[in-house]
Formats: sequence, structure tokens, C-alpha cells
Amino acid sequence: MKGHIARKRFGQNFLVAPGIIGAIVSALNPARTDTVVEIGPGLGALTEPLLERLDHLHVVEIDRDLIARLQQRHAPQHLSIHAGDALAFDFASIGSDLRLIGNLPYNISTPLLFHLASYGQQVRDMPFMLQQEVVERMVAEPGCADYGRLSVMLQYRFWLEWLIDVPPDSFDPPPKVDSAVVRLIPKAPDLLTARDAGRFAHIVQSAFAQRRKMLRNNLKGILDDAGFAALGIAPTLRPEDLPLEDYVRIANYCSAPASR
Ligand code: SAM
Repeated sequence: MKGHIARKRFGQNFLVAPGIIGAIVSALNPARTDTVVEIGPGLGALTEPLLERLDHLHVVEIDRDLIARLQQRHAPQHLSIHAGDALAFDFASIGSDLRLIGNLPYNISTPLLFHLASYGQQVRDMPFMLQQEVVERMVAEPGCADYGRLSVMLQYRFWLEWLIDVPPDSFDPPPKVDSAVVRLIPKAPDLLTARDAGRFAHIVQSAFAQRRKMLRNNLKGILDDAGFAALGIAPTLRPEDLPLEDYVRIANYCSAPASR
């Protein structure tokens, strides 16, 4: 692996299948002047073909050895290296109309997606490689076992497009799980109808705190039986039965001045 030993703690599974690498770069299909940010460039599987198509590329990488390799190979006028943890990185500091791309470190994929969800206004689109199981949770519909907090929070902010399935032998070392590429496109602000985004997030988190319990229990102290009745939502439903729109309605009901 080009003299680098893959670090498990950084979720390092390097892409080695040219067809898959080409498909991810084509999914982005960048114009030369687009502002593209790659999360976790690693040994450069995506970085190199991206640099061929771009005047400039930003990367966010945590592994110091990999950062040193990138610094040796690429001049700063072509590659801006943001050394550090993508979970703590302020993507807005790069600008707006950003196009994010990455074969993401699977060990932090869920918190990373939640972190990125807050940059909807700065982002144009983001094709990402993730574990297939996470992509299933992202796109899951109400009533499915996979439908949960991740589905509701991401579907609230993004249009999600499942692009390709990727087998383990496309990576070195191969991960133990199947992978998939998914594209996230931020929804227009007028579709984000929760009046208080923080309250909406809190309600979704509370609702799914215990999946097997009824909403009445999970939303105790947030929504009483009169509230359920006013919204026409049965308090005996389980959190996975409720569509996104109903979570928004609950949040807006709780945000209304009269209910405070
Ligand atoms: N893009 C390369 C490829 O496709 O071969 C590497 C992908 S590898 C799955 C994940 C990359 O993310 C590694 O380079 C790893 O060091 C980096 N990484 C892991 N955790 C990170 C974090 N918290 N912040 C930034 N980069 C991280």
C-alpha cells in the first residue's frame, strides 16, 4: 500500500478499484473552478483524479503521515490541506457553494453526517462512500426497521440519491461490510419548515430514544395527550411509524407560543 500501513482507528480502507474511483469522480463531475472539498484523502485514490479536473482542491485529513505525503506531492497553489478532525472542521470557513466528496471513515460516519447536516446552506452537493448499512438507514422510509433518527434528520435537510453498490474487494484492506455511494443534495430553505431547528432535532432524538416504546412514552414531558389529539397523531404509534412531516408538525406545535 505505497509504504503506508492502514490505521484501523482512522477507518482506513483505501480505494483500489479504478472503475469505482472513476464512478465517484463522475458522480461529482466537477467544473475546473468548483470549490471541492475531499474528506479523508488518504493515499490519494480520489485526490489525484480530482486534481486533474480542478484548478484547486481542498482536503481535510487527520493522519499526520498521510498529510506529510500529500504535502510532498502537491503544491499549495493546487491543494489546500486542512490538517485535523473533520468532525470539528468548520466547512463554512472554506466558502459557499461547496461540493464535498469522500470515501468516508466508516468508524465516524454517523456523527460526521450529523456534523455535515449543519452545512446545508454552504453546500451544493456531496457524493460519499459509506457502509451500505448506513446508506440503508439514510434512505429508509417510515415503517421500515432501518428508519430512525438518521433517516429523519438527513431526509429533512437533503435529497438522497443511492448511486452505486461497492463490494469489499474494491478496497485495500477490504472492509468487512458492503459499501455504497450516496449523493446528498441540500433541500431549498423554503422546504425546511421546522420553525425551530433545535427543537425539531430534540424531538426526533427523544422520539427514537427507545424504538420499541410508544411515542406517548418517548415524548413524555414534550407532547401530552391533548397535543397528540390536536395534531391527529395516535400516541400509541412507535417512532418508526411516523413520517418526517409529522415530526415537523410536532416540533412546530411545541414551538407555537400558545403551547409554551
Ligand atoms: N480517500 C481515500 C481512499 O478512498 O482511498 C481514503 C479513504 S479512508 C476510508 C478514510 C480517510 O479518512 C483516511 O485517509 C483517514 O485517515 C481519514 N480520516 C479518518 N478519520 C478522520 C477524521 N476524523 N477527520 C479527517 N480525516 C479522517
